[in-house]
Amino acid sequence: MKTFTNEDYLNIKKKAREVFQDNIHKNIVKEMMEKDWPSIRNFPYQSYKKIKEWQLKRISYIVDYAYENIPLYRKKYDAIGFKKGDIKTWKDYDKLPILTKEELINGFPNEIVKDLADLNITTRSSGSSGKFVTIAVSKDAIYNDTIQGFRQYYLQTNNRYKPTDTVLFIYTCPWWITEVDHLYKSEFLPTTTKIDDAIKKIKELRPKIISTYPTYLERISEKKVDLSQYGVDTVIVHSEQSNRSFRDKLEKELNVKIVDEYSSEELTRIALECPYHTYHIEEDACYVETVNPKTFKKTKNGEPGILIGTNLLNLSTPIIKYNQGDLVILDKPTKCSCKNNCRTMKKIEGRFMDSIKINKNEYVPASSFMDIAYNWFLEFNIPVHGLRYQFVQYQKNELTLYLIKGPFDIDLETIKNSIYLLIPHDMKLKIEIVKEFPEIKGHKYRPVINLCKEDE
Ligand SMILES: [Zn+2]
Repeated sequence: MKTFTNEDYLNIKKKAREVFQDNIHKNIVKEMMEKDWPSIRNFPYQSYKKIKEWQLKRISYIVDYAYENIPLYRKKYDAIGFKKGDIKTWKDYDKLPILTKEELINGFPNEIVKDLADLNITTRSSGSSGKFVTIAVSKDAIYNDTIQGFRQYYLQTNNRYKPTDTVLFIYTCPWWITEVDHLYKSEFLPTTTKIDDAIKKIKELRPKIISTYPTYLERISEKKVDLSQYGVDTVIVHSEQSNRSFRDKLEKELNVKIVDEYSSEELTRIALECPYHTYHIEEDACYVETVNPKTFKKTKNGEPGILIGTNLLNLSTPIIKYNQGDLVILDKPTKCSCKNNCRTMKKIEGRFMDSIKINKNEYVPASSFMDIAYNWFLEFNIPVHGLRYQFVQYQKNELTLYLIKGPFDIDLETIKNSIYLLIPHDMKLKIEIVKEFPEIKGHKYRPVINLCKEDE
């Protein structure tokens, strides 16, 4: 089998750019919109029975595809005696084994795709474990994801969004498709953007919706701006844990609505907070259930458990019964004023994030560090697959980055330089390659931890 080198890994980027540089994709999405928009738009409002029927059919198809084409699944499902066409009922689905992140990391590249050419389009996630996994994404998944994204704007603004509006992403990297026929436009700013510059850009663009990290939004709110004056109606926050009282506080300060999105690279949109503050599952993006964290037995509605999900969009690296690692409570569909009939998620215990203190009253949000880590691949040519990181601030004027290496070589000088884009040059930065992260009392693993006392 062909070995996958540093260079091969870094070449993914170039190939993805080539794939997505022409207009053909916008046109495909336009055609899909003409055909499928009403059914995608209305999906959450049909009966839950219909939703489940659709899901079972889709899952059966994906499982068969994975079994026939993806070596990882062939082995995994052969071991339980699975045969093509076996998924006929939900009980059959229950019999499938759970997939772990480690399996995906170790299976890269040959075992997790049908053909290495599928790796021309990939995504990386480090998520709550801070360890990078690379998965291939199909074009179809990207198209459908794009259209479900448009629906998200309607859902989360109570239909105040219009296709002529602009959406601003303050995020890691731009989305593949940034407009369809001059409508559904999105703009992009990296989270490394200085807050004042971001505000300037918001003034100029007047986006109806901003999508960003809660810690980045908090920095904007410290500048005492009234975002509604710049045309902003709603801010969607994601990737980090934020609770409702935090969002209520920022809503007042910024004079806009703030709603939460719960998503991951592996499962795409998992649940969206509606304008009435209920989290509704995105049942056509992923099928989710919960299991007991110790026994891995399925938990009942209303009981907390670890989220296990199947991505219903992507076939390039199918994600089936994947252990997402977050603790949540799922429940039946409720009668919500927004009329969404998908199941609900009551509570999300995820990734509370710290900010890193760089000056007396100045902080850099955790999300900026996580974005830099993502950009080690995109901007700095570091093959991050299998790499694990953790930033710890023990005291002021100092930051430590712990790295556990993956299969590829990494250039520490480049990593160092990337971090100095976020922190002042007189701040000390230590990078340590370790076998395990240091045990930090009272802290479950988080990618960014600040142990600085407030009064320092
Ligand atoms: Zn609702």
